[in-house]
Amino acid sequence: MKENKIPYKTYLDESEIPTKWYNVRADMKNKPAPLLNPGTLQPMTAEELAPVFCEELIAQELNNTDPYIDIPQEIVDFYKMYRPSPLIRAYFLEKALDTPAHIYYKFEGNNTSGSHKLNSAIAQAYYAKKQGLKGVTTETGAGQWGTALSMACSYFGLDCKVYMVKVSYEQKPFRREVMRTYGADVTPSPSETTAIGRKILADHPGTTGSLGCAISEAVEVATSTEGYRYVLGSVLNQVLLHQSIIGLETKTALDKLGVKADIIIGCAGGGSNLGGLIAPFMGEKLRGEADYRIIAVEPASCPSFTRGKFAYDFCDTGMVCPLAKMYTLGSGFIPSANHAGGLRYHGMSSVLSQLYHDGLMEATSVEQTAVFEAAEKFARVEGILPAPESSHAIRVAIDEALKCKETGEAKNIVFGLTGTGYFDMVAYQKYNDGEMTDYIPTDEDLAKGFAGLPEVNL
Ligand SMILES: *Cc1c(COP(=O)(O)O)cnc(C)c1O
Repeated sequence: MKENKIPYKTYLDESEIPTKWYNVRADMKNKPAPLLNPGTLQPMTAEELAPVFCEELIAQELNNTDPYIDIPQEIVDFYKMYRPSPLIRAYFLEKALDTPAHIYYKFEGNNTSGSHKLNSAIAQAYYAKKQGLKGVTTETGAGQWGTALSMACSYFGLDCKVYMVKVSYEQKPFRREVMRTYGADVTPSPSETTAIGRKILADHPGTTGSLGCAISEAVEVATSTEGYRYVLGSVLNQVLLHQSIIGLETKTALDKLGVKADIIIGCAGGGSNLGGLIAPFMGEKLRGEADYRIIAVEPASCPSFTRGKFAYDFCDTGMVCPLAKMYTLGSGFIPSANHAGGLRYHGMSSVLSQLYHDGLMEATSVEQTAVFEAAEKFARVEGILPAPESSHAIRVAIDEALKCKETGEAKNIVFGLTGTGYFDMVAYQKYNDGEMTDYIPTDEDLAKGFAGLPEVNL
């Protein structure tokens, strides 16, 4: 170890778990664009959102003014089961890279769902229960969100119906069984159980499904079943709000250590972990109190930020959800079949999209073989087997640390290690067998997705 002033792991005390979430929208000069009604193309009102989402979550979704929102005591109590999560100084990785940089990571994989998604799942389940609902519906791709929501629903005694993208349902039977163990009802999507599922199956026989398609099914069931609402594990403003717990804890720990971050890095699928990790730091930046380099990392095969368009788009394939203004590849975009690294969503959080558009953060894309190479290096020296999604952030943290080696700068690099990869061993197997390839979509591939963007003249 280079120095012993800073411990390998910094755990906050239980009493230091934040009791308020931080809402970065309150400090944004240019607010994220509002969700639009897919029928009228006018901003969605709380009344219009009410058949789909829980009331209190709608209030949070539309709240662009309150910087802090109280975390109900029941949620703080649940957080105590697995939080505070550790902030780890990556001494072993620094040594392996022979870099003067100081690398820190916030590890969110220390719960049964294996990722940060539980932070929002428990909040969403709590508000559904408080509203007196019977249950919630959702979609899941790789399965982390479905698992987290199943755990949260089982804690509050809510029914949980999960539409799981068919290819994952078949490739990840153990994820499915974790969800069923927590009492969830898991259906492969597209399915015969919904009108939209039947239509998609008729139009595309043999399809292995997509996230956008599973969302459409889950929304249909929620809006047509008494006592149910739909919940979503990423992208939405409310999810970024709940995930601010990651950044608040990180900031408290760094402040205690007397460390000022120079670069903050996170992987970006729909943007929730990154939005949560950077929230308090971005707040300081927006208020002119401090400056940070903030980098979003996405897969080169699903490059919403780096090659997408900043436009209103559908959040789902069935075009039943509200429209969001975001960096998007078009709701019809599906990453190539060889893509194994997760982060497959076609769009990006409206909050992060606006911040990126305003030049307050950067984005970069990485190819999956380079991501798994970083994952393997990290697993071998730091001990944690990372999720492929998280490994996008590891890749760029390593690259930035190697740049420091050239310049001799001892920068403080902080990245989000969002989860563990035990259910992703098929992807690791491909990498280990030397069968993993990279595919970067051509401009023609992307043009097909852009052609499906709706015309919105506001
Ligand atoms: C879902 C997930 C992500 C990506 O989702 P975001 O909303 O972009 O954070 C990243 N890492 C892990 C482990 C996940 O489960």
